[in-house]
Amino acid sequence: MRNFSMTINGEQVSAAESLSVINPATEEAFARCALGSREHVELAVQAASRAFKPWSALEDSVRVDKINALASLLEANMAELTQLVTQETGKPVNGLNGIGSIMEVGASVAWTQYTGSLSLSNEIIEDSEIAKVEVVRQPLGVVASITPWNWPLMIAIWHVIPALRAGNTVVMKPSPLTPIATLRFVELANSILPPGVLNVITGDADVGETLVTHPGVSKIVFTGSTQTGKHIMQSASASLKRLTLELGGNDAGIVFPDAKVENIAEKLFTAAFHNNGQTCACLKRLYVHESLFDDVCIALTKMAQAVKVGDGMLDEAQLGPLQNEVQFNKVCQLVQESVENGATVLAGGKPIEGKGYFFEPTILIDVHNGMPIVDEEQFGPVLPIIKYSDIEQAIQFANASPYGLGASLWTSDVEQAQRVAQDIESGSVWINDHGAIQPNAPFGGVKQSGLGVEFGEYGLHEYVSLKTVKVCKA
Ligand code: NAD
Repeated sequence: MRNFSMTINGEQVSAAESLSVINPATEEAFARCALGSREHVELAVQAASRAFKPWSALEDSVRVDKINALASLLEANMAELTQLVTQETGKPVNGLNGIGSIMEVGASVAWTQYTGSLSLSNEIIEDSEIAKVEVVRQPLGVVASITPWNWPLMIAIWHVIPALRAGNTVVMKPSPLTPIATLRFVELANSILPPGVLNVITGDADVGETLVTHPGVSKIVFTGSTQTGKHIMQSASASLKRLTLELGGNDAGIVFPDAKVENIAEKLFTAAFHNNGQTCACLKRLYVHESLFDDVCIALTKMAQAVKVGDGMLDEAQLGPLQNEVQFNKVCQLVQESVENGATVLAGGKPIEGKGYFFEPTILIDVHNGMPIVDEEQFGPVLPIIKYSDIEQAIQFANASPYGLGASLWTSDVEQAQRVAQDIESGSVWINDHGAIQPNAPFGGVKQSGLGVEFGEYGLHEYVSLKTVKVCKA
């Protein structure tokens, strides 16, 4: 079985203890990795602090060259990284409509390249007889990056690349459920980056807590659950660390009465079921106008019954298993309770027998706001479909959530949808699509889905502070 190490100060570091990493398709360990401790956090933050000055002092163009080299490195190691992502997440290599681990690594390359192409310059906002005023963008110092298990490599890239590009150094801590692709990426990246610029340690909440409370850390970028995000915000307050929090979601979709079911059904299905619903911006609850309700249910039920579920290493698998046992049990329980409380199962509804955390793609009706399957972030291959009669009611249902990550509107009347988009309480609204993120548009949550944004210049600016330098001439 292959063993993976942490990287601290450019060195491969093992530990007294190690961790088995489970392939959720087989429930068997496929790799082991070092299990870090508080001492490793200390060493990693020290290394990143030492590396900060020389790294931040480099010309921006030198850092851009390194970022571009990292993109090429990811591309050159795509086959290995793809396999590791599938083994640790269960996500199929190809996936539903191409949303699988090849896409995860491909998107990592694309986001890295795009971040390298951005401009990060200072601005002169006044140059008059009285004064010259320059706004200078400066890196923050050591950034702590904490990532979840659902898109481990892609989210790591979303954190690390803008942080490095802006001149910061980084200590990462991936989820102990899916640390492997990240460990391998950082090992590879250290063939390009100076020692200490990018470090990775492993461990559970304890190690994460030590990292986010460390006085040597200036900023935390965290992607994970809202519950942990709140805890991290509290921990960060002791030294007022800067924060970017990308947290949970419970995205609503609204199908308007003028939508063409045959045009939208496949996109709706992919939005809800790719990666088994384990994407923060998956479509999690669908509100359909009563005039189209039956047609939408029939179309999505057919797709749920036809989709191929299996071990992600098989070419034909479109959906894999849930990533871990806790998540699997949560989905089983939520579906069972929904049925006990009156939900009707149109497709799926139960676990798939045998090894692996497989659950049937499930469509539920006779559900409503107020039921946990609708109100909670269920994070599984389950879509509750709810009937509405007027658009104001649908907007109210969609907004009745503490979350506000994404939402979608499905219609032939784009102008009406653009007006409705103003009333939707979420960080993104997609019209006739869902979860359609792109590297140049800001992505983040409102309400309890997060703080700050990622991507593009908007995201890059989260990794710098602004300093005003004013030359008084008179
Ligand atoms: P989680 O909150 O349980 O864990 C995330 C990470 O935080 C892990 O690495 C974990 O070890 C670490 N951690 C736990 N307690 C900590 C503490 N006290 N201090 C520091 N670190 C700590 O989340 P998860 O179950 O791994 O991921 C699923 C969640 O992530 C879902 O809620 C999903 O919506 C969210 N998510 C959000 C986005 C987004 O962009 N908004 C993207 C992907 C996932």
